[in-house]
Amino acid sequence: MLGETVAALGGVKSAIEIVKTILQAKSESDRLSAIGELQAALIEIQQQAMALQATVAELQDKEAGLRRENEALRQRASDLSRYQLLQFPETGAIAYELKDELRTQGEVRHFLCANCYQKGEKAILQQHERSLVCQSCTNRIYTKKMPPLRISSPDF
Ligand SMILES: [Zn+2]
Repeated sequence: MLGETVAALGGVKSAIEIVKTILQAKSESDRLSAIGELQAALIEIQQQAMALQATVAELQDKEAGLRRENEALRQRASDLSRYQLLQFPETGAIAYELKDELRTQGEVRHFLCANCYQKGEKAILQQHERSLVCQSCTNRIYTKKMPPLRISSPDF
């Protein structure tokens, strides 16, 4: 965009010089020749202005996209900040849980995957027997220990 702006300003400067030439022309033929140059310079300036306008519109679209992306990231970070690290006492496994004081009405107690949380992603762990499983990265954490094996002696 800087190059286009410099080119447009250079075109305006040239046009001003041509106007001076027109005003100082000593003959009608010199004046007509300079007017022809001025018309060409004005057409070039118009094309540069249109290119600049297109670039500005493109940059405005990019800015709007970046603003939306920034807002989404801000909301995600705000949502993730509602959770705190939790270690399950039986197994030492780690997950994130929603802070009780920030739980909104209707929100059930749930846990987030620590792996995904570190990547800035919210992945709710799903209960599967004695473990919680992440549907996003397939991380599995055990929340309860295995019950002791029952060793029975064979009956002879
Ligand atoms: Zn995960």
